[in-house]
Amino acid sequence: MRHGSIPGSHGRVRPLSLLGDPVLHAPCEEVRDFGPELAALVEDLFATMYAARGVGLAANQIGEPVRVFVYDCPDDEDERHLGHVVNPRLVESGGPVVRGPEGCLSLPGLEAGTERHDEAVVAGFTVAGEPVTARGTGFFARCLQHECDHLEGGLYVDRLTGWRRRRVLRQASRASWSRTGTPKRARDRG
Ligand SMILES: [Zn+2]
Repeated sequence: MRHGSIPGSHGRVRPLSLLGDPVLHAPCEEVRDFGPELAALVEDLFATMYAARGVGLAANQIGEPVRVFVYDCPDDEDERHLGHVVNPRLVESGGPVVRGPEGCLSLPGLEAGTERHDEAVVAGFTVAGEPVTARGTGFFARCLQHECDHLEGGLYVDRLTGWRRRRVLRQASRASWSRTGTPKRARDRG
């Protein structure tokens, strides 16, 4: 990202990895090379996130198993937070635990009430290797925790229990984008 450029304007919109793709279900690797390939990946993440109308996107959601995410996300006071973090660490999560609707570009069209801390602090690096900290409350804190989970190979559905989990997984298996859902649905309809 060059100074003054719009994030994602040099990026390529990439296909999204969806629930069940192994790249989403394994921890991502630490970034060691802060070169032009990393900057290009961040641009692709922004371009893909904006094309999909998301508020955050982790690298494994476009098939790259490395520890990077981007965000352009409002908090509960409607303040906009825009940035990227390389090798992020969730250094703090606190405040009350709040259950709120949460969705994911890797399970398009679905959401479920998911418990998250109301405050989160993530520390990491920029593409230039400079230290960076992202602090969030409310919806943005939810986003930061969600993206950190992705890099550990986790999805919000992994945090659900009981009927919330069963319902969203059932909806996912029936969704048009589901690998297992489409043939089954076709069979059900004869
Ligand atoms: Zn997600």
